[in-house]
Amino acid sequence: MNNTQAAKPKWGMAIDAERCIGCHACSVACKVENSVSLGNFRTKVYYYDHVGKNAVGKPAFKRAFLPTLCMHCEDAPCLKACPTTSISRGADGVVRIDTTTCDNSKDCISACPYGAIHTDPVAEVADKCDWCSHRLEVGMQPACVEVCPAEVFSFGDLNDPQSKVSLMQARRGNELTVLKPAEGTKPSVKYRGIGSVVPREMENKLPKGRNHDPFTYEIDTWSQLKSDYGTGKGEA
Ligand code: SF4
Ligand code: SF4
Repeated sequence: MNNTQAAKPKWGMAIDAERCIGCHACSVACKVENSVSLGNFRTKVYYYDHVGKNAVGKPAFKRAFLPTLCMHCEDAPCLKACPTTSISRGADGVVRIDTTTCDNSKDCISACPYGAIHTDPVAEVADKCDWCSHRLEVGMQPACVEVCPAEVFSFGDLNDPQSKVSLMQARRGNELTVLKPAEGTKPSVKYRGIGSVVPREMENKLPKGRNHDPFTYEIDTWSQLKSDYGTGKGEA
């Protein structure tokens, strides 16, 4: 491999949901970094309150956290749905929207199984995560990766065996999975903790064909669970 080839990265990400504390720092940093419009998100952290099991196997209240963003799918339905071919997947693995040609048809929003695209109401174009491409160009990490206090995100060049994402894959590859595998989109974002700390059914919170709305973003359902508490159903 010559130097020119070696210089071309292919970006990838692994998210360790077992480490997430649900602080929303990633979502906030993303909004600030990318001037994401009020009420919209490129990066979202979903909450899921449920009755699971405690360390000795008894029923216990649990709150699971699931950080999400564009999955930069290898077989991206958004790309195929765009009538103006404004969405592309670069050799670097990043799925991007060309806002100069986007006609705001919203076909990409309808096609995405992960609720990752929204309409920028000011520019009136589709908008989503591009792994902070402007930061990657100058050797920086995406904003979400940079601010996470729990080091949930392993991001880097898949062609570099020493990058954080490659090391995560080497160490824990057998624990990594993707969200909504049945959609067949081949996401570039892999997860650890799905099916353990994050119940599989939680992936259904990611709205298919539309973006975040308050009904998928529950952060205050303890009272609902409390109605079970004392009946034996929810008691630890
Ligand atoms: S997650 Fe959605 S927006 Fe991102 S590449 Fe896949 S289909 Fe497209
Ligand atoms: S910043 Fe890290 S710990 Fe906080 S919600 Fe995001 S992924 Fe979870």
